[in-house]
Amino acid sequence: MAAVTEPMFRHCYTRPTWTCVVDGDEWPCASAKSELRHQFGVRGRVFMDYFLNRLREARLDLPDEDDWLLVKRFVLWSPEDHR
Ligand SMILES: [Zn+2]
Repeated sequence: MAAVTEPMFRHCYTRPTWTCVVDGDEWPCASAKSELRHQFGVRGRVFMDYFLNRLREARLDLPDEDDWLLVKRFVLWSPEDHR
C-alpha cells in the first residue's frame, strides 16, 4: 500500500482560522475525521505525522489558543469520535 502523505478530502481546513471550508466548524470537523479515517484506516504513523505537522502550523496561526486544547483537537481525537 502506498504511503499517504497528503490526504485529499473535501472537508479541508483554511488558514489561519483552522475552520472547515465546508461547514465552518473547527477543523478537523466530524466529517473531516470521517474522511480521514477512511483514507488512513487505523491510526498509524502516517496519520500521526500528518496531524503533528498540522498542529505545528496551527500553533503558529493560533498563538492565543491553549496548547493542551490544540493537542487534543489535532492529535488526541479518535477516528471513531464524532462530536
Ligand atoms: Zn467540515
